[in-house]
Formats: sequence, structure tokens, C-alpha cells
Amino acid sequence: MTSQRTRDRLINRLREQGINSEDVLSVMRETPRHIFIDEALAHRAYEDTALPIGYNQTISQPFIVARMTETLLAAGPLKKVLEVGTGSGYQTSILAPLVGELYSVERIRPLQEKARNRLRMLGIKNVNLKHTDGGMGWAAKAPFDGILAACAPEDVPEELMQQLAVGGRLIIPVGGSDNQELKLVVRESENEFSTQVLECVKFVPLLSGTIR
Ligand code: SAH
Repeated sequence: MTSQRTRDRLINRLREQGINSEDVLSVMRETPRHIFIDEALAHRAYEDTALPIGYNQTISQPFIVARMTETLLAAGPLKKVLEVGTGSGYQTSILAPLVGELYSVERIRPLQEKARNRLRMLGIKNVNLKHTDGGMGWAAKAPFDGILAACAPEDVPEELMQQLAVGGRLIIPVGGSDNQELKLVVRESENEFSTQVLECVKFVPLLSGTIR
């Protein structure tokens, strides 16, 4: 169920669905998604679907992880990236090998600790994790060349936009529980932002506060 053949089938499917970046596909082929999921569900790890990870949260669907990563990287390499919502650490582990330095924030401490162990197990070293409410970003580390949010606010938070470097790209699901859009916001100049709607999605909400 977790064999290379099963994983390759998922990669072929992503390719058929329009994922073009060989870099993204290759990292996803090498990354064992089953270690990000509780054992009872591990046999479903290579299905193209979101799965529960506890605390009412989910590991993101592989197609969405691929699409968001590919879109974030589409204008060239990124040195410094912020991820909002580490969750299981799966998206983190796909993004980390493809960027310079990755900063990732999570509001639920036990999820963050599990993610930390998985990243260590995979030998991923360019990730800085922080237990905090990431709706405000991570001002001390800004500006970022890229920001990826794995949870949906009602509107694009101004703080995240302001933490983008000029030329920086923010990819974020926006909206309520049954009508979310995945948006790409690019900081074209100091005071100018462009926004593009990519597709309809279904993410868990961005919530405020932290859980210990
Ligand atoms: N890409 C992750 C998806 C995790 S689900 C994965 O593949 O596992 C989204 C995560 O965002 C959840 O873990 C949730 O706790 C977190 N989250 C929600 N609101 C947040 C906030 N304000 N700050 C930080 N993390 C938040």
C-alpha cells in the first residue's frame, strides 16, 4: 500500500491533472506521505485526498499541495518562504527542498511537535517552526519572497501582504467553509498588488489564538 508503485501511480495522476513542474513531481515521488498520517489511515496515504490528522485538521490533498507549490515557484526560485499552518508537515516537506529557507507557523502545539519529528526523520534542515497564530505572519523574519497558507481566512490578511518582498508571491485559500477560492497575490511594487483566482478549494479555516 505504501510501495513505490503506489506512489508512482499518484504522481502519474498528478501529471494527468496538469501538474507540470518536474521538480515538484520529483520531490513528491520521493516523499513518503504515509509517515504524516496515523497508522490506521496510512493505507490511504497515496490516494489523492485530504485525510484527518486530529484536532479537526487535515493533511492537504496531494493535488492541491502540488498545485500550490508549483504556482508559488512559477516565477523563479525563492530564497525565503513563510508557510501558515504546518499541520502534519507534509506540505512543509514538499516545499523545503525547493526553496532556500522555510519558516512555518502552526497554532496547535501537538501537531507542530509531530511535524517537527517527521521533518527531523526526513533529514530536512532548512525549516524553522514556530508555535503561534500565523494570521499575522511572522513579522520578525519578513520580508518573504513567498507565503503559502494552508488554512482559509475570510479575506486576505493585510499583514501577510505587507510581509511580502516586492515581487513576492502569496498563495492562499480565501472564503467561508463552502465557497473558497485559491488566490495568488503578487506584490508588483511597494504599494501595488495583483490578485488572480486560481480555483475553488476546500481548506480548514484560519483560526485565531493558539492551542498548547
Ligand atoms: N498543509 C498541511 C495542512 C494542515 S491543515 C498538511 O499537509 O498537513 C491547516 C493547518 O493550519 C492546521 O494544522 C491548523 O491548525 C493551522 N492553522 C489554522 N489557523 C492557523 C493560524 N492562525 N496560525 C497558524 N496555523 C493555523
